[in-house]
Amino acid sequence: MTLKEKNRIKRENFIEDHGIIYLDKVSMSYPEEGAPAVDNVSLRIDKGEFVFITGDSGSGKSTMIKLLLRELVPTEGSVYVNGYNTKKLRHGQIPKFRRSLGVVFQDFRLLRDRNVYENVAFAQRIIEVPSAQMRRNVPSILSMVGLAGKYKSNVRKLSGGEQQRVALARALINKPSILLADEPTGNLDPSNSWEIMNMIDEINAMGTTVVVVTHSPEIVNAMKKRVVTMRKGIIVNDEEEGLYINED
Ligand code: ADP
Ligand code: MG
Repeated sequence: MTLKEKNRIKRENFIEDHGIIYLDKVSMSYPEEGAPAVDNVSLRIDKGEFVFITGDSGSGKSTMIKLLLRELVPTEGSVYVNGYNTKKLRHGQIPKFRRSLGVVFQDFRLLRDRNVYENVAFAQRIIEVPSAQMRRNVPSILSMVGLAGKYKSNVRKLSGGEQQRVALARALINKPSILLADEPTGNLDPSNSWEIMNMIDEINAMGTTVVVVTHSPEIVNAMKKRVVTMRKGIIVNDEEEGLYINED
């Protein structure tokens, strides 16, 4: 067995034992800030789970997402994602680590001067997918998000709901094991919000682990998923088939 195979098996065993996402007494303090943004948080998410993270503005939700993406490393404790300790990743390993994560943000973050096809294809070019394969993959993922007919459109001309579907297609094209979404419906009307959430639910049903930060009580209460509620950097509630907990 090669060292590479040994390490892969080690990571698979770690995921079995501790979850695909595992935060072990994690704190994150920003320089110059008083209280930590994430304060001694422990959390386990198993492969295939769908988890909502909710909580007031400033409660540390986006910091959690950044820790999972390894945009940040914790000031204390350890963050394990896909069996990797994010603090121990070597520089050269980070791109491969990131590729196993799909990410969607509230503000879409598309390439404004490119069309729909190019925005999605871009993610495949980065990992050097052969072009023949890419020409099959991109239309297939675009039809999954209902945008097959718009592949030539400039993304600036799309509605918010359509832009978020492009972002979702881009996040999924490289088949990530985890989808992280930070308020993906924050800029959408209720009908587009539901379309996006239903797509994320289908993606989860096909096996992708999903973590969604949201402020929407309607969505959380209707979907009956695990709900992790944060307050001032601490997890104050964690429930299967949970409800949205209003502060004050
Ligand atoms: P949420 O996403 O729940 O609104 P954040 O994780 O963005 O919360 O922020 C948590 C806390 O950390 C807040 O007090 C915020 O002001 C602080 N914070 C977030 N990002 C930074 C940063 N880059 N530098 C300093 N403080 C930050
Ligand atoms: Mg946030």
